[in-house]
Amino acid sequence: MKDQSRLPRLSRVAVCGGTHGNELSGVYLVRELLKVKKKKKKEEEDEDGGAMSVLLVLSNPRAMQQCLRYIDTDLNRCFTHACLIGPTLDKTPYEMRRARELNAMLGPKGSAGAMDLICDLHNTTANMGLSLITYSDHDWICMHIFRHLQRQIPDTPVRYIHYDVTSKESYSLDSVGKHGFAMEVGPQPHGVVRSNIYTTMKSGVQYMLDWVHFFNSGVIFDGGFMDVFTVVKHIDYPRDGETHNITAAIHPQLQDRDFCLLRPGDPLFQTFSGETLRYTGSEPLYPFFINESAYYEKGIALCLARKRRVKIPSVRVQTEEEERQNEQRYTSEEEE
Ligand SMILES: [Zn+2]
Repeated sequence: MKDQSRLPRLSRVAVCGGTHGNELSGVYLVRELLKVKKKKKKEEEDEDGGAMSVLLVLSNPRAMQQCLRYIDTDLNRCFTHACLIGPTLDKTPYEMRRARELNAMLGPKGSAGAMDLICDLHNTTANMGLSLITYSDHDWICMHIFRHLQRQIPDTPVRYIHYDVTSKESYSLDSVGKHGFAMEVGPQPHGVVRSNIYTTMKSGVQYMLDWVHFFNSGVIFDGGFMDVFTVVKHIDYPRDGETHNITAAIHPQLQDRDFCLLRPGDPLFQTFSGETLRYTGSEPLYPFFINESAYYEKGIALCLARKRRVKIPSVRVQTEEEERQNEQRYTSEEEE
């Protein structure tokens, strides 16, 4: 029993699409789920309501309308405390204003009133299958959801990516929730919807909601080991010193080989004059987001991660009695 975590119920879940307006699987999936929800009769909602409410959100409507990643600035970098509490002026970028609206709707970030779980839907042009991207390698809720998806979607590789933010603050939409992750599915060009990618994302969301439902109903999930990809660094394209234009593309032997181990000396880029440039790092690492189209402007040709095996405890939902005790403890701590 020592290795069991008892965690609060997940009553309020948000599924967000269109945070990047040209990542179309999430846009169409949220629209579809909204249609289904509307069709559902009131009585049915009451039947399985109670336990959990699911809020469906289209995060960046103006960017979606124009099929752009964003209008003024990347919305998914606007959820730091500094951005969220700053003054709203005429010249405040659209996405920064929208981030404050979303924080009011789904947060406020870091407060007791925030959503219990936020799943933010994204697409990538990289060959990454389905990845859950988080800021934590000890959020047992996210990690158990990942394990559930991995078991339920055997045809698609499912991976867990961890961005370590001990030195800086989390900045993405999913960080507004008490638990949260981005669900990244690819390869799919931006501005395009591919049925196989859409269907994988739809299954991912459905299995995620199933897991929350099981968890809330008291199912005990066994602990165990899982692989976590922890981001170590990014690599930019080789660039011309004067013009800053890129001078090479991802090497054909690396293209589409996301999560295949990259060893020192392996081909990395092919210059536009035909020369092969090799990986000069000293440690073998796992590449991903290889040739993501939205990252050219960020100076990222690929990301590199270390694979680690992490032990996760068994989890189950707190009983009402345990939840009451925790709330009392929380309140008395606040009063002190
Ligand atoms: Zn995205």
